[in-house]
Amino acid sequence: MTQINRREFIKISGASAALAVTPSVLKAAESSFEARVVVVGGGFAGATLAKYLRIWSDGKIKVTMVDKNSDHVSCVLSNLILNDRLQLDEITQSFTPLQDNYGVIVEQGMVTGVTEEAAFKIVHLDNNTDIECDYVVLAPGIEFIDIPGLKEGDINHFDQVPHAWIAGEQTEILREQLHAMKAGDTFIMTVPESPYRCPPGPYERACVVADYIKRVLGEGQVIVLDPHAEIAIEKETFEQAFKGIYKDIVTYKPNAKLESIEIKDNGEKVVKTSVGDFTAKVVNVIPTHEAGKIVKDLKLLIDDKGFAPVHAASYESKLRTGFYVVGDSNSSGQPKSGHMANAQAKVCADAIIREIAGKTTSKDFVYDSERLKNIKTNSACYSPITYDEASWLTAVFAYETANNSMALVEDSFASSNSPHWSNDNFEDMFEWAESLFSNTFG
Ligand SMILES: Cc1cc2nc3c(=O)[nH]c(=O)nc-3n(C[C@H](O)[C@H](O)[C@H](O)COP(=O)(O)OP(=O)(O)OC[C@H]3O[C@@H](n4cnc5c(N)ncnc54)[C@H](O)[C@@H]3O)c2cc1C
Repeated sequence: MTQINRREFIKISGASAALAVTPSVLKAAESSFEARVVVVGGGFAGATLAKYLRIWSDGKIKVTMVDKNSDHVSCVLSNLILNDRLQLDEITQSFTPLQDNYGVIVEQGMVTGVTEEAAFKIVHLDNNTDIECDYVVLAPGIEFIDIPGLKEGDINHFDQVPHAWIAGEQTEILREQLHAMKAGDTFIMTVPESPYRCPPGPYERACVVADYIKRVLGEGQVIVLDPHAEIAIEKETFEQAFKGIYKDIVTYKPNAKLESIEIKDNGEKVVKTSVGDFTAKVVNVIPTHEAGKIVKDLKLLIDDKGFAPVHAASYESKLRTGFYVVGDSNSSGQPKSGHMANAQAKVCADAIIREIAGKTTSKDFVYDSERLKNIKTNSACYSPITYDEASWLTAVFAYETANNSMALVEDSFASSNSPHWSNDNFEDMFEWAESLFSNTFG
């Protein structure tokens, strides 16, 4: 394995090696190159996909991106809302540049279904809008699996027991609860079962909260209830933080499978787990994830469970042709991260352009051997550990023809980069995030 150069990851690549031959593909398709794509979701996967479909098709593909919200609040950096390091508007991404700079048609609405006619598809929105198209790309992120006692519906329990794992209002609720804590109070958080978005994220949150307690309250507890047998990622780094600088604050409980939550009349919450019950006023439950609901509704999951199986060279569903799934909703075996969603979206945009071109030339450009050799994706996560220090983690994946899958070829732990936290990493984190935001939404 070669050593990973951290600086290379800060600049998110605008072009992709996989795209090297797209101009010739476009030329092969000539003027008959016309198609309509609807992208469901305007997060890191959907926005990148919409943008690069327009850029790489020279504006020939009509792209409509639908999101239920008017803009996208980034989960990336959202733990820094909790300690007031950032404000929500600083991580809120507008869709206007996608419209103004690239001609993406942006529709606000919730996609409720897709029907298929012989020659096209119709995407249905909850506001009675129907959009005709040839290809549908699903990028709806995640949905949470219900926890006993925490079902959305009866009372909105997530207002009382926030997850703050889809950023926005939830992040504000958790921030307010944290800021209402008094010296000596306890903050309980649960880690979701793998695979979940941002593997280091829950441990990072424990550090951000522990740092807040240490600096602002002086004393207090953070109890981390983890269903895994040990810290799932960056073990050395987080163990060092929990047992070192936060030894008087953090209690880490492995093998703690969440069974139920009970909210008492006095506002206290009881978290029942396989290793016992834990009580606190502030409880941050991050439920186990599955693919966004629309992915399940469209029958793109096996047994209606988990995440969508996709072809790694295109992100087309293995269960339905003409439907693609990018980002956190798929089960490609790669980390669920914004950086990775951006990378997958570029591979998918390239594949859709090739698929369209192939229709007019009868060539399979998607599985072109040169292209397959060049398909690479990568992921990076920066984790604030203290108020001004962060750790850093990255991984590179390459396409493997034998299994039609993405294989891990490099990671930062295998290189000589020490997975330790530093102020340099903290500064780099903002540069990296800015680069990811502008590459996706700018
Ligand atoms: C605290 C935290 C820290 C993180 N830190 C990092 C990090 O350092 N690095 C990193 O790379 N990643 C990080 N992540 C992970 C990253 O945020 C996710 O992996 C990423 O957002 C996934 O992108 P996505 O496009 O698949 O989903 P999302 O970003 O969730 O976007 C999905 C979009 O789809 C829309 N949508 C859903 N369903 C519908 C529907 N039916 N109709 C219309 N619209 C719909 C939603 O409104 C949303 O805008 C972090 C996550 C968290 C929670």
